[in-house]
Amino acid sequence: MPIIKIDEIPLSLYIHLPWCEKKCPYCDFNSHTRYDDSFFEEYINLLISELETWSLVFIKRGISTIYFGGGTPNLFPLVLIKKLLDKITKYLKADNDTEITFEMNPGNSELANTSRHYLNGLKKCGVNRISVGVQSFNNECLEAIGRTHDSKDIYSFLTELFDVFSNVNIDLMFGLPGQTKKMLESDLNSLSNFSPAHISYYQLTIEPNTLFYTKRPKLPSEEAIWRMQELIKNFLIFDYRKYEISAYKKNNFSCCHNLNYWRFGDYIGIGAGAHSKISRLGFVERRSNISNPELYMQKMRLKNETHYNVKMPAGEELLFEYILNITRLREGFLKSDFEIRTGLKFNNYEAKFISAIERGLLKQCEKRFYPTELGFNYLTDLQSLFLPN
Ligand code: SF4
Repeated sequence: MPIIKIDEIPLSLYIHLPWCEKKCPYCDFNSHTRYDDSFFEEYINLLISELETWSLVFIKRGISTIYFGGGTPNLFPLVLIKKLLDKITKYLKADNDTEITFEMNPGNSELANTSRHYLNGLKKCGVNRISVGVQSFNNECLEAIGRTHDSKDIYSFLTELFDVFSNVNIDLMFGLPGQTKKMLESDLNSLSNFSPAHISYYQLTIEPNTLFYTKRPKLPSEEAIWRMQELIKNFLIFDYRKYEISAYKKNNFSCCHNLNYWRFGDYIGIGAGAHSKISRLGFVERRSNISNPELYMQKMRLKNETHYNVKMPAGEELLFEYILNITRLREGFLKSDFEIRTGLKFNNYEAKFISAIERGLLKQCEKRFYPTELGFNYLTDLQSLFLPN
């Protein structure tokens, strides 16, 4: 078993800003629409006090990535984002290479903060990567999934954005209600006009606790979905590398923040519903913050009230968590990675790896394990072989 040096496991910071202009009918994220601007300042102050507590634990460990997610982080005024970033760099060790991603939605109102002034301000604060929730360039599709923006909003926002930032991710979705192959082709052509460094392409799935779950829209057939997947793959193959189940990158423009999750690195999550994973000597600690923003804020105000739940997955449960993450990546993993990141002994679980290899879902090449093409295409089958008994 390799010697585990916890301080060498990369550490990321996630900041959850859980408000949106409107709730999309397919969205099962922790995002809410009832908000009041006066909340925002107090919320940021509470995030700062959460951060302060963490900084006492992580005084020595540097932060490799910072991610503002939501919700719609660009609903927050610049001045508050700057205030928080200043405190982050004060409390934690971040350097000039730290990837700082900020999620944005194009929006169609002045609430949306999509101006050149806002973008320049983010850059000045240290943000160096923007992730945009475009989802589609087609107005019919955007309307069908209840987005607040239309294609005009997207074009004007992206034009400004690419003038200010070069490291940009665009989120797109396929398998949308009423979406045809032709519409998808046109989305791909529009996408290529901007040629972002990174693309995340997700299939629309209907999740419990969403409006679409109770009022299910008519989705394209399985065969049509398969054709869409092939179309995306063949279109992007020349300029992008698919390095994760839904993520495509140009050159070295991976999303380092997500890579750290998938490689089972450590992370601190601050804000309502944020999750943290911390390696301790011999075990992993997971924390989940209370997801309701008002309740989270209430607990944070009363300093002696706990605002999170703790779990310590061990043994097969931990193995399964590792597999759920690492098999999303094409790069595979070494036995030693597995042992360092989980604290488990590989030999105790070898039979499960052998079974996955025998089924053709995993392969071993020298010391590295990779999902095969079949394993990548049937990822849930591969992952379910590692379910705890
Ligand atoms: S904008 Fe994103 S986070 Fe907000 S409701 Fe829509 S899908 Fe959810």
